[in-house]
Amino acid sequence: MTRTKHTTADWQRLDAAHHLHPFTDYGELNARGSRIITHADGCYVWDADGNKILDGMAGLWCVNIGYGRKELAEAAYRQMQELPYYNNFFQCSHPPAIELSRILSEVTPAHLNHVFFTGSGSDANDTVLRMVRYYWKLRGKPYKKIVIARENAYHGSTVAGASLSGMAAMHAQGDLPIPGIAHIEQPYHFGREPDMDPDEFGCQAAQALARKIDELGECNVAAFIAEPIQGAGGVIIPPASYWPEIKRICAERDILLVVDEVITGFGRLGTWFGSQYYDLQPDLMPIAKGLSSGYMPIGGVMVSDRVARVVIEEGGEFFHGYTYSGHPVAAAVAAENLRILRDEKIIERAGAETAPYLQARWAELGEHPLVGETRGVGMLAALELVKSKTPLERFAEPGKVGTLCRDTSVKNGLVMRAVGGTMIVSPPLVISREQVDELIEKARQTLDETHRAITRG
Ligand code: PMP
Repeated sequence: MTRTKHTTADWQRLDAAHHLHPFTDYGELNARGSRIITHADGCYVWDADGNKILDGMAGLWCVNIGYGRKELAEAAYRQMQELPYYNNFFQCSHPPAIELSRILSEVTPAHLNHVFFTGSGSDANDTVLRMVRYYWKLRGKPYKKIVIARENAYHGSTVAGASLSGMAAMHAQGDLPIPGIAHIEQPYHFGREPDMDPDEFGCQAAQALARKIDELGECNVAAFIAEPIQGAGGVIIPPASYWPEIKRICAERDILLVVDEVITGFGRLGTWFGSQYYDLQPDLMPIAKGLSSGYMPIGGVMVSDRVARVVIEEGGEFFHGYTYSGHPVAAAVAAENLRILRDEKIIERAGAETAPYLQARWAELGEHPLVGETRGVGMLAALELVKSKTPLERFAEPGKVGTLCRDTSVKNGLVMRAVGGTMIVSPPLVISREQVDELIEKARQTLDETHRAITRG
């Protein structure tokens, strides 16, 4: 079967007949037909009708080095011939996993020198849940089991990942969270407490952690997990006061800090890690996505010296692992991806030049009558669609307007993501200034058209 033998309609028919998509309303999808993406290059993807679309989301926040890097294909090809698969169980290891572990210990913050490999971000967070409980058992505190997470967080879709996530709809559908997980409020200021100073708001949101630990009893709490900036929840950027206060609370109460860097890792905020942007010293740090720029499924948990020492020196067997932990082909591709990120100084260049340019231009969209707020850090940006700017009024059904805006955007040749009434971009780190201009122009045209459609309707 080659591309040319199938029309878009053929693909859509087959897709509807056999393929259950992630996070999808099947009836609605099959009525509308899926968008068939056939190939990609640089910052663009093409659909089966030949439309060229600027990928403002880098796939799913992951194609950090852009599409079409032959070096990664060649690394996979070489590794597939040499050793396509072997496991890291039963006293075995192999060069790609060892080499990637070494590189990760170099590029991540200095106190993170060990990695547990996984296949994705979700199972990285399953590993987190297992490892924090194991750690406290080894430390002689078996009651320290509860992990505190945040409402509207996203940590994955497995049972543990979805339980740690704070998505009400996921919980309702899956009879989740599982026991031993608690949630606190998120530091989402827009549209709430308008008279409160952002730092005051941030401090109060962080204090919810102290209150929850005290309510549950410090002796029962293992860890706090959070994304530096909530991604799938709508690019929620905490006020500057938030993280220092969270750090203080975790240290004061002897709680492990887990910083989920699945989106923010490998350059998304213009620094190698969100932990550097916010000056955090995570005890555990889940990673995925940008680790291989999405070219291969691979994730992991970076483990701090403090935790590693205990699990290495004081533990027996850790009864946990995946067939594909440290898969050789995925590891070889990830290592090549990290080599390119480093050698070409992609993160440093984005952080110094193109990301500030994206932020400056994105802020201009704040003048649009449909936009209540723009915000962003590095190569991550969002805007809030509102019914009225002053007084501030959100739409009654923000998801409907967001979906309309997203579909209009794709029609205009730009992938933006909608989370309710929040529009998001997270482009490849290699986006050029000219492509940023194209992104802004298409976003503005999309806002205009969405505005006209709503006003008409
Ligand atoms: N953590 C965060 C912060 C994420 O954004 C995601 C995915 N968007 C995950 C975990 C889960 O990763 P995956 O989809 O690779 O399982």
